[in-house]
Amino acid sequence: SNFTKEDILKKAEELEVKFIRLQFTDILGVIKNVAITVNQLEDALDGKIMFDGSSIDGFTRINESDMYLKPDYDTFTVFPWRPKDGAVARLICDVYMPDGTPFEGGPRNVLRRALKEADEMGYQMYVGPEPEFFLFERDEEGEATTITHDQGGYFDLGPIDKGENTRRDIVLALEQMGFEMEASHHEVAPGQHEVDFKYEDALKTADNIATFKFVVKAIANEHNLHATFMPKPIFGENGSGMHMNQSLFKDGKNAFYDENDKLGLSQVAYYYIGGLLKHAKAIAAITNPTVNSYKRLVPGYEAPVYLAWSASNRSALVRIPAARGAGTRVEMRNPDPAANPYLATAVMLKAGLDGIKNQIEPPKEVLEDIFEMTSAEREAADIDNLPGSLFDAIQELLADDLVKDALGEHVVEHFVEAKMIEWDVYRTQVHQWELDQYLNVF
Ligand code: GLU
Ligand code: MG
Ligand code: MG
Repeated sequence: SNFTKEDILKKAEELEVKFIRLQFTDILGVIKNVAITVNQLEDALDGKIMFDGSSIDGFTRINESDMYLKPDYDTFTVFPWRPKDGAVARLICDVYMPDGTPFEGGPRNVLRRALKEADEMGYQMYVGPEPEFFLFERDEEGEATTITHDQGGYFDLGPIDKGENTRRDIVLALEQMGFEMEASHHEVAPGQHEVDFKYEDALKTADNIATFKFVVKAIANEHNLHATFMPKPIFGENGSGMHMNQSLFKDGKNAFYDENDKLGLSQVAYYYIGGLLKHAKAIAAITNPTVNSYKRLVPGYEAPVYLAWSASNRSALVRIPAARGAGTRVEMRNPDPAANPYLATAVMLKAGLDGIKNQIEPPKEVLEDIFEMTSAEREAADIDNLPGSLFDAIQELLADDLVKDALGEHVVEHFVEAKMIEWDVYRTQVHQWELDQYLNVF
């Protein structure tokens, strides 16, 4: 940690912080927090704040519900949109058991385990995400709608881009919180936006994604708009993805780069891609964790469907962006912003490391637009599909020992249980489409 306990106590005093939110995520990726007042900050920094784990989705363990929050000192930030007198700060926490061991079901701990394995192999992982989201109007009651009065498209400018001011305030707030911002722009669908921040080491990026999502929601709220990271809110329009650009560094150098290779990629990079593709179907359960996620992963909306990689073509699941040298990276295109960023990063890393350890060669690069290929052509080229539904993805997860091992028994058990309930509730609903289709015909 770059800060000591004294540093943080001093900062809190200087900034006249009144409340501190101790923040963590549950297994489903929902941010949880408990607010304490500044006079409890010292206890909190010592990891003495306890909470009832049995009230958090997926955390319960029989007879063990007391858990402790251990703040990561590097994550201390003040919320810029809250009042200046009585300022609010937050600390991201790891979850610990009363005996002082990390809780195996804590998503941040899951990622730490995977990073430790990478570290033992000499690798450091860096991740750069590209989260997309929609801004929607609220109705008179303040409830979210799916109405957007903005008719903007990819890279459009105001005044048609009604979200411009909101996006600007999002960028400013994040900058004040220490994010290094890159591009932000209108996305393809009306009301859809993308805000990119700089890649960082994997744990920091996962923290950043979690923070990003609630900052976007808070700032949108101030503009009386509703921000959603739901993967496919509108039928017939592009959905929201969260491409994850990943690279491994060894001895300070990008381990994916090799200037002598014809694509500029190292053998390590090829194996990493091989591992990602081998486990992609099981990974989908984590990177695309909702019923709705699979409505995005269909042909025609710039979202991936097929298990292939390419250095040039955006129809592939894994793409290698043009940058080489230190910027060499692998872009996984199926993750969506509903994913728990810690678990998603952990399973992708473990899959890539599996590729490296077991020297898994990726299939041949696919140069043609896969969406233009017939199913016979795809079969001849050995191109398989991502799972078509949450149910299929869960089955793939249950059949993949490496991905299960990455998550640990506790997370697998609770995640699968929650997702099977979600699937069951969904599949027994009668949807509007069915009524439109059958009510008069039969
Ligand atoms: N919105 C697209 C998706 O669902 C991605 C568009 C892009 O390439 O940025 O993945
Ligand atoms: Mg995009
Ligand atoms: Mg991208």
